[in-house]
Amino acid sequence: MKRPLIAGNWKMFKTVDEAVSLVQTIKAGVSRGADSQIVICPPFTALYAVSKALEGSRIDLGAQNMHPENEGAYTGEISPPMLKDVGCRYVILGHSERRQYFKETSVFINEKVKTALKYSLVPIVCIGETLQEREAKQQFEIVKAQMEQTFKDLSKEEMLKLVIAYEPIWAIGTGRTASPEQAEQMQSYIRRLLKETYSSESAVKIQIIYGGSVKPDNIAALMKKPNVDGALVGGASLKAETFVQIVQNATSEIHIEAGS
Ligand code: PEP
Repeated sequence: MKRPLIAGNWKMFKTVDEAVSLVQTIKAGVSRGADSQIVICPPFTALYAVSKALEGSRIDLGAQNMHPENEGAYTGEISPPMLKDVGCRYVILGHSERRQYFKETSVFINEKVKTALKYSLVPIVCIGETLQEREAKQQFEIVKAQMEQTFKDLSKEEMLKLVIAYEPIWAIGTGRTASPEQAEQMQSYIRRLLKETYSSESAVKIQIIYGGSVKPDNIAALMKKPNVDGALVGGASLKAETFVQIVQNATSEIHIEAGS
């Protein structure tokens, strides 16, 4: 049975005190119950305090971004060793908000993925199409091109150390979730591309999670799909109650639908 990976992306929300209080409540809420991998990605300013608050718990810490160099004159940036230093195990890379507002390209994200792996951080790499691209029926070619550039020159072994997050941009923060069928259709396509490029054996092991308006009431249906291995949760991770419920509901009825 698959073990869901549920990651909360807090974006640019929460002061240090608010972050610690939120993570304490989440920690208490997920201490019992079903097994899943849980990752919390607070803003940079709260990473150290949240790392301390998470000590001894089963929740991992992640960052929302990083620079590809290990140090240097890059004002305002944070490096992979700095993330390791504060206790991060994961890092979100290539989020659509980074691509859209900060003009990050797949080529730049490829550099970040390589250094994250070099520093033993697990990259959660986001890919996905815009509404315009979906309406023009270009979603498959867009995702394929993003994958080719973002994962360029990575070995089969390196691919096994990262997580892919399929995040259709039209579903992020909009309340408009991709249907479980739409998520499965794209994520099985991603898995097929991985099989073609690497091996069948490694393709089945790479975790592919879904992100885009995931809520307590839609996670179970998404998780039933064979190629949905978990979720990247934005808005609904900012409240302990909804995030804990997503974690619990993610494992509530994992019997995989045949032929999806
Ligand atoms: C995200 O930020 O990655 C995300 C999926 O946001 P939301 O859940 O709010 O759509």
